[in-house]
Amino acid sequence: MHNSTGRHLGMIDFTVPQETRLIIDSINRFIREEIVAHEDEVERLGYVPKELTQELGRKSREIGLYALGMPEECGGGGLSTVDYCLCEEEFGKAKDALIRRSFGTSIPLSLINCTGELREKYLLPTVRGEMIVAFGMTEPNAGSDAAGISTSARRDGDDYILNGTKHFISDADVADAFIVTAVTDREKGAKGITAFIFDRDTPGFTVGRVQPMMGLRGINATEIVLDNVRLHKRQILGGEGEGLFQALSAINRVRLAQVGGRSVGMAKKRLT
Ligand SMILES: Cc1cc2nc3c(=O)[nH]c(=O)nc-3n(C[C@H](O)[C@H](O)[C@H](O)COP(=O)(O)OP(=O)(O)OC[C@H]3O[C@@H](n4cnc5c(N)ncnc54)[C@H](O)[C@@H]3O)c2cc1C
Repeated sequence: MHNSTGRHLGMIDFTVPQETRLIIDSINRFIREEIVAHEDEVERLGYVPKELTQELGRKSREIGLYALGMPEECGGGGLSTVDYCLCEEEFGKAKDALIRRSFGTSIPLSLINCTGELREKYLLPTVRGEMIVAFGMTEPNAGSDAAGISTSARRDGDDYILNGTKHFISDADVADAFIVTAVTDREKGAKGITAFIFDRDTPGFTVGRVQPMMGLRGINATEIVLDNVRLHKRQILGGEGEGLFQALSAINRVRLAQVGGRSVGMAKKRLT
């Protein structure tokens, strides 16, 4: 194959490996046997009941379908980006709220930046399905322009004091812990943004109102408010100033798989 300038293009092999085929078939079967029957109930309730969350997660973990997109070294499926896109195509054929709870698709990829005690406390339990972590970057005045956030983190000895409001934060209503981005050095621009992780019951932190969405019934996006939230420097993911880079690297994969792959699956479902 050649491009318009006559240059030879290397061929990409898009054959789906047998192992991936088996995973896709298992997801397909799980959706048919375990998920579809609950879709109407979740649509009516507007949330996934806790017992159902636990049951679906347990069943999917038993057959190795939980956290497929997370790296193997932290207990995830370690799938390549292409393989994960194929799984997401399958996920697009069922209700997202139930897909999240069944397969851990909403685990923030930024969690891979947890090391030491943060890895034990947040990353590993989340990949095991024992914990839900929400990811807060967007603010009322900073969406696409993620570097334009106002939330600040002021250094105070070994601590940082965080202040600001985020919105559209998925799963904030049910999350056990949160990752948020905040400005630690405004003069450094994109390199002055840092990611912090903390527990839901941290003083000064509150989950605000649910923001109604047009679709996606069963998942709630809400505001979150940080009012003089004091966090130790150990609660930084990676290093100071790495927050935006971490978030955008994670979002690249989300865009490909959870937006691209899943949209193909949704379209296919409507056409069959
Ligand atoms: C269902 C849902 C769940 C979400 N969950 C989360 C979450 O868990 N955590 C989180 O942090 N965020 C979350 N978000 C927020 C999401 O990341 C933002 O909606 C997104 O970044 C876009 O920001 P915005 O909504 O402010 O739109 P805007 O940035 O205001 O964009 C509005 C429109 O303007 C266009 N536009 C923007 N800037 C430019 C430009 N410079 N040039 C040309 N066009 C431009 C955009 O393409 C878009 O069409 C969620 C959003 C939704 C809808």
